[in-house]
Amino acid sequence: MKITDDVQKAINAQIQMELASAYTYLSMAAYFDEHAFDGFAHWMQLQRREEEEHAMRFYRYLHDRDGRIELQALEKPPRDFASPLDVFEQSLENERKVTASIHSLYELAQKEKDHATVSMLAWFIDEQVEEEKSALEMVDKLKLAGDHPGALLILDKEAAGRNAE
Ligand code: MG
Repeated sequence: MKITDDVQKAINAQIQMELASAYTYLSMAAYFDEHAFDGFAHWMQLQRREEEEHAMRFYRYLHDRDGRIELQALEKPPRDFASPLDVFEQSLENERKVTASIHSLYELAQKEKDHATVSMLAWFIDEQVEEEKSALEMVDKLKLAGDHPGALLILDKEAAGRNAE
């Protein structure tokens, strides 16, 4: 079954969104590097790599379906943040938008009776639960830490231990 124009367009938009997320997380890593939070910077670099892998998953899928990959422009990512908590709150917000986008892509694929795309997206729906969970955990811990440098440094050290999936 040839992929429909609407599904193809939505997958290209999703590739853009995943790469824009990677770009945003790289900018967040730069903020943490600048402020000597090496662990949070490491966490964001892993996140950046995951987003690139997500983009490549959609890229390969579209190619496998004999679709046309059309990369879109990326906007300048945010660069000024108030605190580590602000960064992670923005990353949680971003992941919630990604989740909503994947859910609407799923609904589109159902409407078009594109069962292969529905099946491919099941992985992403599960993945987004994890993405939101890991960002939310950091937000909750950073709220507990407040402005205490000692607590922030402990969380930074903990973030340094995050492993690639
Ligand atoms: Mg993603």
